Amino acid sequence: MAVDTHIFRVSNRTRFAPGKNVLQVEKKLIKVIPDEFIRDAHHWLILHGRYTCTARSPKCAACTVFDLCEYPQREKQAQLAKG
Ligand code: SF4
Repeated sequence: MAVDTHIFRVSNRTRFAPGKNVLQVEKKLIKVIPDEFIRDAHHWLILHGRYTCTARSPKCAACTVFDLCEYPQREKQAQLAKG
């Protein structure tokens, strides 16, 4: 699985597959994602990072994996969005 900037960020923020570099993240993703989902998961992670879990202001209030995410700032980000 090619780990781009979006996948790297989402994997680390959520703690789904944390790693200090793209190779570490890739190895963990391959370990935790069943083979039949690898291809789709690659697209899902990129799209999630591009449109929801964005670099500067993640849309935690609207995030479908909010309850599964371990990003420490997610509650704060959700509150900011509510104003
Ligand atoms: S809750 Fe926020 S930090 Fe966690 S995956 Fe969703 S958008 Fe990203």
